[in-house]
Amino acid sequence: MTSNVHSLERVKLPRMQSDRPDRADVEAAFRTIIEWTGDDPERDGLIDTPARLARAFEEFFAGYAQDPIDILQKTFEETEGYDEMIVLRGIRFESHCEHHMAPIIGRAWVAYVPSGRVVGISKLARVVEVYAKRLQIQEKMTAQVANTINDVLKPQGVGVIIKAEHHCMTTRGVHKPESDLVTSRMLGCFRDNPLTRQEFLSMVD
Ligand SMILES: [Zn+2]
Repeated sequence: MTSNVHSLERVKLPRMQSDRPDRADVEAAFRTIIEWTGDDPERDGLIDTPARLARAFEEFFAGYAQDPIDILQKTFEETEGYDEMIVLRGIRFESHCEHHMAPIIGRAWVAYVPSGRVVGISKLARVVEVYAKRLQIQEKMTAQVANTINDVLKPQGVGVIIKAEHHCMTTRGVHKPESDLVTSRMLGCFRDNPLTRQEFLSMVD
């Protein structure tokens, strides 16, 4: 359960708003795809589909408009010196693979041992969400979540485990349903201290 991704690849945020194709361009592209499948984009059932797809894509990829570093800025310092592990377990997410744009459906376990700065727990879920709502590979997403928490909170350590089903291999390609991919990224005390790592792993089901 190790990730091969060792450095945070800062996502180059997309081009300026003004350079982006507009909604009409996107809807035209979806109409072309429908025609290419062999169907008629003008028939009743499909006439509004390009517009619906454009809205769905806005939702699937909303993470490009959000900065995960901002989400972690507000921290609590009055924690009576709390320095034990904090774990948010089984955070459900939906993402899309960057190779096929097929869904990746999974859960994330996010843990850290603070060093003074503690963040609201919903913020950990939001960081997962922001990275999920971009085109992804699971290994990269795992590293991005861990590295961002590590960079912003500067804790004693961070552990992230993600388990997910990839629809590009369950519903197409090799067609292997019920297989899931497990990735992990351990930093600081989670990497160096076997007891900390073990404590975290015991909380992952
Ligand atoms: Zn794929």
